Amino acid sequence: MAAQLRPPRVASDAIEFADPAADHAALLPELEAAAAQVLRSGRFILDREVAAFEAELAAACGVAHAIGVSSGTDALLVLLMAAGVGPGDEVVTSPFSFFATAEVIARVGARPVFADIEPDSMNLDPHAAAARIGPSTKAVITVHLFGRAARIAPLEAACTTAGIPLFGDAAQAIGAAGDDGRPVGMLGNAAALSFFPTKNLGGFGDGGAILTDDHALAMQLRQLRIHGAAERHRHLVVGGNFRLDELQAALLRIKLRHLPDWTAARRRVASLYQRGLAGTPLHLPPADPGAVWNQYVVRVPGDRRAGLAAHLRADGIATEIYYPAPLSRQPCFDADRHRAGELPIAEQACRQALALPIRPSLSASQLERLTESVNRFYAGPG
Ligand SMILES: *Cc1c(COP(=O)(O)O)cnc(C)c1O
Repeated sequence: MAAQLRPPRVASDAIEFADPAADHAALLPELEAAAAQVLRSGRFILDREVAAFEAELAAACGVAHAIGVSSGTDALLVLLMAAGVGPGDEVVTSPFSFFATAEVIARVGARPVFADIEPDSMNLDPHAAAARIGPSTKAVITVHLFGRAARIAPLEAACTTAGIPLFGDAAQAIGAAGDDGRPVGMLGNAAALSFFPTKNLGGFGDGGAILTDDHALAMQLRQLRIHGAAERHRHLVVGGNFRLDELQAALLRIKLRHLPDWTAARRRVASLYQRGLAGTPLHLPPADPGAVWNQYVVRVPGDRRAGLAAHLRADGIATEIYYPAPLSRQPCFDADRHRAGELPIAEQACRQALALPIRPSLSASQLERLTESVNRFYAGPG
């Protein structure tokens, strides 16, 4: 192992995978002032900061309504509750995503039905998903994975024909646009956002939002997030506590103003990767002007993923595996455990996908070191 003979890198030299503090370092005085103002106001729940953030978020995302909620997971959960999905129902979704996408389906008592993904985008295949819609299907959740809007053309029509909603898991895709130019919040009936710290608009704790153009759905979601109450002490339906905090909203308002710059920086990193890695055997993610690159995930052919990750680690470069196993093979979905080979493209992605660091604070010299290290891996004896 030649890698072990090299002197270890000093910590300051390491290229971290995510670095939320570095990304907002320049905004610290402004963020601290906003937090102090909320602390002094005595108003902490669904007040003017949340209302202002929702209006600014809806405008920034090109939709009529944004509803702030407690997390991206809860955004998805509330959407399924609004659609009346329950025991005995099925929801079609992608097997290649973060666990929460399928978890929320099980949480309302329904069964996730997985359709395979597209090999290039690694998003849910809209034809395969449409084919899985049956009499028990009550909704479809597509995933705008890694910051790339999923293709939905045939799927959207199939959902309309079936009379069921199409929701988007846009936790990683704030600001993304589809191939027809529609903003991610207008693809299907609604989209769920997450403000988990490593997402493109990262908060300081948990938070999420739902984007929709559907006025009636927006009203329903606003009720569900406060225990199904239409007014105080009058509960029309059973909801929950799915509120976004004033403190998060005040801080997110400041960061939202910088999102276009950070998205532009992510796009620059992605295009430098495309260029710097073009000569390697890696399968690079396809170019997409509408993508916002929450992750830059390559596929490593020929069983060399672990080797490449180890090589990069020895060079002080962190990588991640998104995602190591299809959701269809998670033990908690045991009763319906899919056979290996049933979703071949997702399974291959799970074996090959490797996420390289991508974030606004990545410097040009770090990026150069990164691409140089990958190229050196492939120049060496394979
Ligand atoms: C982060 C994420 C979620 C969950 O969001 P939380 O805010 O952490 O609850 C759901 N789906 C995807 C694809 C995600 O990346």
